[in-house]
Amino acid sequence: MSKHVVIVGGGIGGITTAYHLRRLKPDLKITLVSDRPNFVFTPALPHLAMGWRKLEDITVALAPLLPRFNIEFKNEKAEALDPDNNKVKLASGEELSYDYLVIATGPKLVFGAKGQEENSSSICTPDHALKTQEKLQKLFEKPGPVVTGAIPGVSCFGPAYEFTLMLHYELKKRRIRYKVPMTFITSEPYIGHLGLGGVGPSRRYLEDLFAERNVNWIADVEVVAVEPDRVIYKDAQGKEHEIEAVFTMFMPRFQGPEVVASAGDKVANPANKMLIVNRCFQNPSYPNIYGVGVVTAIPPVEKTRVPTGAPKTGMMIEQMAMAVAHNIVNDIAGSQERYAPRLSAICIADYGEDAGFFFADPVLPPREKVITKHGKWAHWFKTLFEKYFLWKVKSGNILPFFEEKALEWIFRVQPIELCSDCSGSPGSRCP
Ligand SMILES: Cc1cc2nc3c(=O)[nH]c(=O)nc-3n(C[C@H](O)[C@H](O)[C@H](O)COP(=O)(O)OP(=O)(O)OC[C@H]3O[C@@H](n4cnc5c(N)ncnc54)[C@H](O)[C@@H]3O)c2cc1C
Repeated sequence: MSKHVVIVGGGIGGITTAYHLRRLKPDLKITLVSDRPNFVFTPALPHLAMGWRKLEDITVALAPLLPRFNIEFKNEKAEALDPDNNKVKLASGEELSYDYLVIATGPKLVFGAKGQEENSSSICTPDHALKTQEKLQKLFEKPGPVVTGAIPGVSCFGPAYEFTLMLHYELKKRRIRYKVPMTFITSEPYIGHLGLGGVGPSRRYLEDLFAERNVNWIADVEVVAVEPDRVIYKDAQGKEHEIEAVFTMFMPRFQGPEVVASAGDKVANPANKMLIVNRCFQNPSYPNIYGVGVVTAIPPVEKTRVPTGAPKTGMMIEQMAMAVAHNIVNDIAGSQERYAPRLSAICIADYGEDAGFFFADPVLPPREKVITKHGKWAHWFKTLFEKYFLWKVKSGNILPFFEEKALEWIFRVQPIELCSDCSGSPGSRCP
């Protein structure tokens, strides 16, 4: 009888894993469970917040799509895992049995500064981005000081920079930039650290961009509270400061969701409830459980005075999905071959009028190659990439041969590597 793979989560991680599995093993039974009816292209949420996209431009309905690829779709929340009995409990009470489970739920968002959830804005979900869009309209009508950035414990810094520089451009277009002093406040030890100890010249690059665009910055501090008209932060000496703001946007901290926590300490990292995985993205205690995407526990690359985490970006997630799909299919076939994702990244930070292009291979140091470029072309490249990724989701063709070849020839990227020993931490190199 055909094995059953249950995937929890319908974001970049879940969908990409489902399509790789379908491609590798056409007779596999695959069920994808997601509490959202749609796939949402998260990298365009800052654009949605800015009013540059409509929600329907960046979403794909999953119920009519997935059955076309013989993937069953359940639009439900997975509430609890029973890893000893290979079962996922859904919100309706239904229990799904699996042979292999892939957890790709993304994060639970933690608004760790006092008043952050009520008084500040976020761009991490479609609802948050739409609420931010409304708040921005008020800012445009009644301009005043803006503060953006990241609270302690954040691992996803890129969108905070992107949003800040997009907002600069939007204010400039509306001819009200001179009425809006802008400040970026971050838990990173320096601008451009990105939770990665910097990437190539990212510190110089982002400091220059902020200086050229008149955005002030304060790094290595803890945002402790957000009030309707001010932000309170603590410096390295423990002294509190406040800064006036009529609009704020802070990236929240990411934690593992309840469904992962429900499985206990062998599955959920006790510190942050993220899914424990080895370098092949398999849970060491329950080898039939795998993780893909932001939900996986990747250790921080270095200790920083104010805690920061390592980001998991789209290309890293696509590589995790590819490795996990190969590992599951090989396990079914009785093969010992296992793969680890390379965890390299191409990231484009869009600033509206232009954009930054970053390539890091691998993302976690030590790196073999870093490329940083900047230009208007990168803005158009990101816009095209969004359409291309949505086409991949709609067509089920998640890694067309031309993409694979382009990555290989231009960037020399091998997305996954044969791994003779999976027992190291995720992101560590295979022996
Ligand atoms: C604002 C923003 C911008 C970003 N921009 C970029 C970028 O430009 N480039 C880049 O490389 N990376 C970017 N990233 C990082 C990364 O690519 C995204 O976070 C990516 O969407 C993560 O994919 P995921 O599948 O791990 O999680 P998600 O996209 O969060 O998807 C998880 C899915 O699982 C569902 N789910 C959650 N819990 C349950 C449950 N219990 N039961 C059922 N379903 C559940 C969710 O509703 C969601 O549909 C960005 C991240 C953010 C937040």
